[in-house]
Amino acid sequence: MQAYNDTADVGHFINGQATSGASQRRQDVFNPALGMAARQVVLAEPHDVDQAVASAKAAFGQWADTSPLRRARIMFKFLELMNQHRDALAAIITAEHGKVFSDAQGEVSRAIDVIEFACGIPQLLKGDYTDQVASGMDNWTLRQPLGVVAGITPFNFPCMVPCWMFPVAIAAGNCFILKPSERDPSTSLYLARLFKEAGLPDGVLNVVQGDKTAVDALLAHPDVKAVSFVGSTPIAHYIYEQAAHFGKRVQALGGAKNHLVVMPDADLDQAVDALVGAAYGSAGERCMAISVAVLVGEAADRVIPRLAERAKTLVVRNGMDPQAEMGPIVTRQALERIEGYIQSGVDEGATLVVDGRGHTVPGHEQGFFTGGTLFDNVKPNMRIYKEEVFGPVLACVRVPDFGSAVELVNNHEFGNGVSCYTRDGHIAREFGRRIQCGMVGINVPIPVPMAWHGFGGWQKSLFGDMHIYGEEGVRFYTKQKSIMQRWPESIEKGAEFAMPAPK
Ligand code: NAD
Repeated sequence: MQAYNDTADVGHFINGQATSGASQRRQDVFNPALGMAARQVVLAEPHDVDQAVASAKAAFGQWADTSPLRRARIMFKFLELMNQHRDALAAIITAEHGKVFSDAQGEVSRAIDVIEFACGIPQLLKGDYTDQVASGMDNWTLRQPLGVVAGITPFNFPCMVPCWMFPVAIAAGNCFILKPSERDPSTSLYLARLFKEAGLPDGVLNVVQGDKTAVDALLAHPDVKAVSFVGSTPIAHYIYEQAAHFGKRVQALGGAKNHLVVMPDADLDQAVDALVGAAYGSAGERCMAISVAVLVGEAADRVIPRLAERAKTLVVRNGMDPQAEMGPIVTRQALERIEGYIQSGVDEGATLVVDGRGHTVPGHEQGFFTGGTLFDNVKPNMRIYKEEVFGPVLACVRVPDFGSAVELVNNHEFGNGVSCYTRDGHIAREFGRRIQCGMVGINVPIPVPMAWHGFGGWQKSLFGDMHIYGEEGVRFYTKQKSIMQRWPESIEKGAEFAMPAPK
């Protein structure tokens, strides 16, 4: 296993080999805690994408013919290596993304969950069989891989989100091209090398580093049969349209604005803990982060002072510091965008209870840090309510009752995750049934579904009709074939001109 080299350029992984490809284009990759470029990533040209797709296409026939059991055995070996290397992976994530090390370890664990799920591929691919649909005739269904499929992933989970895709796709018999985020590209190479070490044949998993140029080349490539995307909503919508235009299967997961409703009967200490962790954990750079607290009735006056206290005392440091509760923002540009949103909240009349701007960390003066920010009296027409800030900014909206809370959530254009804190079983049940979001937590702030349940939002948080990983993931990466079979002994003589019906 080649060691992670801190300073080398980050290149592609094509046909089982690390390569810088043909492109001269490069982009800086930062250590956000230090605010310094640590290395550069190569940005692919269409020619590099063509090479990766050609290698995947060449590997496909043999890989698709490999028995699911043998594919699963390689997956089990990959699982073992992932467990051995989980801290090395977490350290790379913290170095390039900035999230605190324990959070990065958690990300790797959730990635491993999906690999464990993919180890069950023989069972997952098992088809249906009906004996004797007509005299001497049987009918069965099987699921076959699509061929070469691609995944385009965001910066905020450089290990977990790729693992939502490629383990399931590859276990199902496909070959995969991963185009990771150019902001934290190293994790993907480490994953590809581990999978090769586990025995994955060359060409089955390729990593192409790059930006829009690489994405557009994948979208237009006739040999790419399906595209999974996770990222922001405008790009998700673009991917959905383009992939459909080029005749590909597509699932495109977009952005979010996740609400947490606090009912007055909730355990408010638990609700405050949940809000602080889910709003400020990973500096709010999670698609399932809670960015809106919906405080019902008298809950507001009791929750806001406690939130303010916690936001002010958040420990914001380099993610490798064991005391850190929150690390830096991924890039200076993202930090400036977040601070711009805070200013817009002030300008539009929200009450700025805690202002995280201007936070500095001793010894890390160039780092992209901000503290936790808390707004009260946020209204639905404000930008900090309507748009995804993707930073440690919690917007509190006061509503009079449960019905108004549900209406508020359901009127938002996003519908990724949502949560409700209450002790009332009827309220909890009504919430689960009436809310227009794909993933719901009852006294659970970040209800990311387990690996076998599938992940996906509603409304503008997902374009396409199948959730990622879980059984829908297997369905997405396979096509169903139905076979009807009989043998000469059961065929009656003579042509049949009527629509055949079972006898
Ligand atoms: P992004 O949309 O900027 O980038 C995602 C991917 O798309 C990257 O690989 C990037 O290189 C590529 N890309 C960017 N611009 C492109 C363009 N113009 N044309 C083609 N490809 C392009 O997202 P990000 O900033 O990396 O990630 C944060 C976003 O992802 C947030 O909106 C977050 O909510 C969302 N997200 C959603 C989920 C989910 O499951 N719904 C999970 C994680 C992140």
